[in-house]
Amino acid sequence: MDCPLETHEGSALLLAYSSGRLERESTVPLERHLETCPGCRQFVESQSSVWRALDSWEAPPVSADFDRRLYQRIEQQVSWWDMLLRPFRPVFHSRSLPIAAAAGVLIMAGVLLDRPAVVPITPPQQSAQVEALQPDQVEHAVDEVEMLDQFNHLMRSEPAEPAAKM
Ligand SMILES: [Zn+2]
Repeated sequence: MDCPLETHEGSALLLAYSSGRLERESTVPLERHLETCPGCRQFVESQSSVWRALDSWEAPPVSADFDRRLYQRIEQQVSWWDMLLRPFRPVFHSRSLPIAAAAGVLIMAGVLLDRPAVVPITPPQQSAQVEALQPDQVEHAVDEVEMLDQFNHLMRSEPAEPAAKM
């Protein structure tokens, strides 16, 4: 197979493989390629460490009304919330994460985005092909940071008046 790092679809393939979501018929040829391609191997390793971190991370206890406030915000902000959750949705389906854990993943994602040096998203060694993908990825990351900022701002600016009766 051609090196997946050279195509946009290939990068998606590698991401799916790293998170354990790749179907079997695509896994076999990809693993064969990984044996011969250090660039792809490095990409998968860096991505897998992110997923391991997400898997092993346990959400801290949340306040009793956190879910209620969260759902309230979700109802008010459906469109950006929907955009924010979309990349994680397949994982939620397969693992049935509760909403608090889902929020934890988002907060974790914020931590990762705040400190890109700790968990490199792209392999340090970059070919011309990988660089060609970057503006797109950077733009996406900026979008996510902006949405997480908005999320943080919304969660902090809880209005003082009593909530509607539920
Ligand atoms: Zn490769």
